[in-house]
Amino acid sequence: MQNHHRLLLSLALGACAGMALHPYARLEALQQLNHYLIEPIGQLFLRLIFMIVTPMVLSGLMLGVFQLSSHHGLARVAKQTLMFTVLASTASVAIGIGLVNLFHPGTGLPLTALPGDSAGLRQIQQHAAQAKPMLETLLELIPKNPFDAAGKALDGGMLPLMFFSLAFGAALALSTKDQPSRWVEVLEETYAACMLIVETTMKFAPLAVFALVFQSTFKFGPQILLSLSAYLLIVVLGLLLQQGVVYTLLLRCFSKLNPWIFFRQCRDVYLYAFATASSNATLPRSLDLAEHQLKMSPDISRFVLTIGSTANQNGTALFEGVTVLFLAQVYGVDLGLSTQIQVVFMAILAGIGTAGVPGGSLPLIMILIQQIGIPAEGMGLILGVDRLLDMCRTTLNVSGDLVIAALVDQTVSNTSCEKPRASCGH
Ligand code: ASP
Repeated sequence: MQNHHRLLLSLALGACAGMALHPYARLEALQQLNHYLIEPIGQLFLRLIFMIVTPMVLSGLMLGVFQLSSHHGLARVAKQTLMFTVLASTASVAIGIGLVNLFHPGTGLPLTALPGDSAGLRQIQQHAAQAKPMLETLLELIPKNPFDAAGKALDGGMLPLMFFSLAFGAALALSTKDQPSRWVEVLEETYAACMLIVETTMKFAPLAVFALVFQSTFKFGPQILLSLSAYLLIVVLGLLLQQGVVYTLLLRCFSKLNPWIFFRQCRDVYLYAFATASSNATLPRSLDLAEHQLKMSPDISRFVLTIGSTANQNGTALFEGVTVLFLAQVYGVDLGLSTQIQVVFMAILAGIGTAGVPGGSLPLIMILIQQIGIPAEGMGLILGVDRLLDMCRTTLNVSGDLVIAALVDQTVSNTSCEKPRASCGH
């Protein structure tokens, strides 16, 4: 059986088993089984992957920048990456906001019909309260202590670590001036060792995917989906439009790749993103796919994918735009055109600042809704379905990173069909 079939099967089995056992979720024996067996399996897998994310980001980004500075021209790659990121993010938020304005999923929805989650809400409120003013946030992109930044990388501090890696990689290229450097060898070996740990861990992926998906469906069951079905459908429709229309158009207009073959080659990675709900946890798989199957230049793919896993989150930006407008409709807060444009910008920026971990965008949504006068309790209404939406939006986040990496690779290295690229549709 092929890998993606195995993953798909685990995903379907996990979802069905969770749904089937949800009505008995209060049984002591089932709770114990879930707590002591199924939950630890999923957590074990995630922890093993998270364990190598920080060394991988450090070594991958330093190497990417070092090699780009020496070969392709870092400035050109960075410019293309920024251009495609802004294009894709703006399109995704515009789709989300357009759909909410068209279908009004929150208008007339009785608040009593919606579920609430006060414990989860309190936790997010605490996170949101720790948010700093814009100037301070920008200044803190430059870490005082890179080791401290590495320690906090998976708790929302990835951007400062990336800044350090970028600066260090560029400085290494300038200081070595194409001379062989032992530092580069160390980085290459670190990166290769990280990949090996990922490959070994991935052998347990089907079991872990079962456990992770089971968790979500066992806990919430299908009822919650019904009360928020219009909102859910709008988010999922928006994500599908971004994937099926925007990414397809981008690939057709700016590359020689056949979008459908490209998407098919990425399906394993989509499944990992869906099951883990974490762009950071999926990063090692995306890097592997980009280098070995999609045959992108490693320096470009390491640069674009590593940065993208935190700073390019189209699915999250779309979700944030839809959620803010949906909650405004539920609470009857009238948002004029200028406020909606403000929401577009804030959602794009929030997509850049969101940590690539499960639920990473929730504190940012809290800040967004409070800024435009929606009661904070609004968040409690959507928490029950967040995990499901997180799985979907993370898949788009990761897909967007791969699309942008492919576009930058094609436009910059301009060697589209010289290399044996399986996805060239000509
Ligand atoms: N889970 C998302 C990711 O890792 C972030 C979010 O939207 O919460 O990409």
